[in-house]
Amino acid sequence: MFCSFSLIHGRRKNSKGDTMIRQIEEKKQHESEVLLSQKKVMCPVCGEEINEDNLPEVKGVIEDNLYYLGGVAIVNSSVQLLVDCWHELTSGGITLDDQHPLTAVIACRFDGEGKCVQFEVTEIRGR
Ligand SMILES: [Zn+2]
Repeated sequence: MFCSFSLIHGRRKNSKGDTMIRQIEEKKQHESEVLLSQKKVMCPVCGEEINEDNLPEVKGVIEDNLYYLGGVAIVNSSVQLLVDCWHELTSGGITLDDQHPLTAVIACRFDGEGKCVQFEVTEIRGR
């Protein structure tokens, strides 16, 4: 009796672990797609290359901002977002003395369940 309980418990633990690994792999794949879609971006204000760390990310914009309160989803749509950001770091990752505000134009696409399946910075504007 005790042995069979242990087996079932072990199996449940494994299947949960597999699910977590799958979710992490999907996330990694999504992040690499986002990175691949980002070309070299130049700052319209200072003319320097913009380090990708300055650019808005899908988690920060969609999950932590747009969907923060929950209960609402954008579905089956392609939309453009204007997102406030800052040119704070050089292309080498050093903090700029003269930081300046920017607006990122982002092309997003949402599937039928509201998941953001495309997130691409298409333009950077000064503000
Ligand atoms: Zn700049």
